Amino acid sequence: MIAVPLLDLGPQNRALEAQFEIAFREVLRSNMFIMGPRLEAFEKDCATFLGVKHALGVSSGTDALLLALMALGIGEGDEVLIPSFTFFATAGSVARLGASPVWVDVDPHHFNIDLADAARKVGPRTRAIMPVHLFGQSCDLDALQGFASAHNLKVIEDAAQSMGARWKGRSTMSSGDFGATSFFPSKNLGGMGDSGLVTTSDDALAERARMLRVHGMQPKYYHREIGANFRMDPLQAALLHLKLPHLPGFNCSRAGNANFYHAALKGRAGIVENRPGADKAAKILLPVDFSGQGIWNQFTLRVPHGRRDALKAFLTARKIGCEIYYPIPLHRQECFAGKSYRGADSAKVSESLATEVLSIPIFPELGSEQRQWVADSLADFAAGKTE
Ligand SMILES: *Cc1c(COP(=O)(O)O)cnc(C)c1O
Repeated sequence: MIAVPLLDLGPQNRALEAQFEIAFREVLRSNMFIMGPRLEAFEKDCATFLGVKHALGVSSGTDALLLALMALGIGEGDEVLIPSFTFFATAGSVARLGASPVWVDVDPHHFNIDLADAARKVGPRTRAIMPVHLFGQSCDLDALQGFASAHNLKVIEDAAQSMGARWKGRSTMSSGDFGATSFFPSKNLGGMGDSGLVTTSDDALAERARMLRVHGMQPKYYHREIGANFRMDPLQAALLHLKLPHLPGFNCSRAGNANFYHAALKGRAGIVENRPGADKAAKILLPVDFSGQGIWNQFTLRVPHGRRDALKAFLTARKIGCEIYYPIPLHRQECFAGKSYRGADSAKVSESLATEVLSIPIFPELGSEQRQWVADSLADFAAGKTE
C-alpha cells in the first residue's frame, strides 16, 4: 500500500523556497504593503501570458467574479445564466449583488455549461452568461461567443480552475467581456493565501474595475461609485510571480498524469472513457479532455449505478485521497431555498453528476509509484474486488 494524498503542495513550494524567502524579505524591507510596482509587474506578466490587454490582481477568485459583475453594472432585476454544477462562488457572487442566477444544466461528458439548455432558459431580463471552465477544461469558446452575441449577453468567464487552459490556442479569460481566476492554493497557480485576477481587453471596463477595486475612488478620497476593497497584496503578487513561469510545466505534468491514467486503464474490464455513447454498464468512466488543451485542475471520474460512495471508501481504505466535487448542485443549496430563481426544475444532469463524481490525485508532483497504485486500485474496483 502506498499513501497518495489528493493534493500535496509541499514539493512544489519547497522547490522555490529560497526564492520565496528573498522575495518576502524584499517586500518586508520595501515597507510597501498595498498595491505598487510588485503587483503591477505580476499583472503585466499575467496579461501577456493570457493574451489580454488588462489584468488586475484582486483579493480572491470570488471577488474577481463580484468585481466583474459590478463593473458590468449587473444587479437587482438582472439575470445571469450560470451552470448549476460548479463551486458555490459562481452563484454566490451573482446573488450577493441582488441579481438572479438562472440555473443552466451541464453536459454529462465535459461537465461544462450546456448551451442548448442555456438557449431554452434565456429570458428578457437575462443580461449575462457566466460559464465555468470546470476542472480545467475550456468551454467551446466559439460556441459561447456565438451564443452570447445571438442573445446580446455579456460574458464573464469563471476560469478559477483553468488558468492556462486553451480552446483552439486561445486562452480562457481572453474572449469574454471579463475573465476571472483564483490563486487559492489548490488551483493550478496556487498562492500562499487568497487572491485572484480579473482580465479584460476593454479599456473602459478595465478602468471601471480598477476604480471599483479601491472603493470607487477617483481621485483619492473622492468616491464616484460604491466599490469595495478588492485589492491583492504585493507580497502575494511577488510570491505568485515567482511561480507563474512554472505554470506551463505544472500543467504539462498534470496532463502527463491524466495520460498515464488513460493508458494504464484503457481496455480494463468495466472502465471506459466518458464519451457520448459510452457503455452504460461501465463501472468507471474516465474524464476526457475534449478541448485537447485542458489543464486538469481535477481528474474527475463518473461512477454510476450508485457505486460512487463505495469507490470512495475503497480508495480511502487504500490510503488514496479522493474528493467529491461537488456533492450538491447549486440549485439545491439551502441558502437558495425559497428563492424564485429559474431553471431549478430542469438541471437533471447536474443532479446525477452530484451522485456520481469522484476526483482522484492528479497534482503535478505525483510520483510514478503513486499513480500506478491509484490506477491498479481503480482496475481492482472495476473488476469487482472489495478491498
Ligand atoms: C475556487 C473557485 C472560485 C472562487 O475562488 P476563491 O479564490 O476561492 O474565492 C470560483 N469559482 C470556481 C469554479 C472555483 O473553483
